[in-house]
Amino acid sequence: MKEIILIKNGELVLKGLNRNTFEDILIKNMKKALSDIGEFTFTKSQSTIMLEPADEDIDLDDATDVLSKVFGIAALSRAAVAEKDMDDIKRVAEEYLSEELDTAKTFKVEAKRSDKKFPFKSPEIQQELGGFLLSKHHNLKVDVHNPELTVTVEVRDTHAFVRGNNIKGAGGMPVATSGRAAVLISGGIDSPVAAYMMAKRGIELVAVHFASPPYTSQLAEDKVMELLHRVAKYSGPITTYVVPFTEIQEQIKEKCNEDYFTLIMRRYMMKISEILAKHQRCSALITGESVGQVASQTIYALGCTDAAVSMPVFRPCIGMDKVEIISISRQIDTFETSIQPYEDCCTVFTPKHPKTRAKLEDVLKEEEALDEAPMIERAVMGARKRVIK
Ligand code: ATP
Ligand code: MG
Repeated sequence: MKEIILIKNGELVLKGLNRNTFEDILIKNMKKALSDIGEFTFTKSQSTIMLEPADEDIDLDDATDVLSKVFGIAALSRAAVAEKDMDDIKRVAEEYLSEELDTAKTFKVEAKRSDKKFPFKSPEIQQELGGFLLSKHHNLKVDVHNPELTVTVEVRDTHAFVRGNNIKGAGGMPVATSGRAAVLISGGIDSPVAAYMMAKRGIELVAVHFASPPYTSQLAEDKVMELLHRVAKYSGPITTYVVPFTEIQEQIKEKCNEDYFTLIMRRYMMKISEILAKHQRCSALITGESVGQVASQTIYALGCTDAAVSMPVFRPCIGMDKVEIISISRQIDTFETSIQPYEDCCTVFTPKHPKTRAKLEDVLKEEEALDEAPMIERAVMGARKRVIK
């Protein structure tokens, strides 16, 4: 039996971005995501995109799994292809959905007829097919309001398609319809979630990670790359910079008041990230910060961090509790990696009494002791670039 995949678009009411551009980017993203699985033909019609596998060996379980992580898809489903003939539609529905029809208690048939020349009108298709399926499966009852199984028949120009329940899509908007932003990624729980949330809004991701060897190990860096690999299943490939941060941290430790250490360090992370972000044509930075989580994330501290850069800083976790962030990290499968106990440069030097009510003028005064420009330049020049898929 020939099978295809049907895709329902997500948010389409977009100002400034027409439907065609939106759909073309979505198709490009789907093609990229499916490149390891096989070739498909894509056909757009109304608010649906049809994917036809180029050969029968293509594993549609794998394909739907990959597609369920592509942003911009509200729902997807696999469908069987039938001739435009009532008897064939019945035969295909019975065969294709036999398992679901045997186990469901309630069902309904929904028909959509875009080919008006088809001799049965939608309600007639529903009655015919519904009656036929009821006669074959005595476990079934019709429930038009809240059925366990919805059998959908779409009669289109060339064929009819029969499908069971939809699979929920990842929602959001196709990546690369909302510009680019650079995420400051640590090995923690929050920043991969923040990256995922912004990619969901259609933002293409670049990543910046600060490493402080020998205080931080290669294993700690590998863990961050593994996290990005998991985020990339949703966001697509991520151009990533690993920035050498040891010298900056050592200078701050040597020359600044210990109480400001974390805050000053975070400001330099932002400054360097902004330079790399501009180089990558990004228009914003993303962090995993959440108000009040730690001393460097009080509203006063966040104000000082923001003042280090002129780009907007997106913090999608800002109002979330740790439990809420953890629940998303489990859902996107980054949690187990995040909790592996490797050191982060933020945790290498932590002040005993960090300033929670830091004033920007005091922070700036502390920073005067640093040899800022060459220090930043060495970090930027020493950054290693790679693409994480
Ligand atoms: P996370 O789970 O994201 O690590 P956290 O609660 O550990 O969050 P902090 O360590 O204070 O928070 O870091 C706050 C934010 O600073 C992180 O969400 C991330 O965006 C950024 N950050 C921290 N460490 C690094 C790093 N080594 N490289 C790049 N960005 C970092
Ligand atoms: Mg952290």
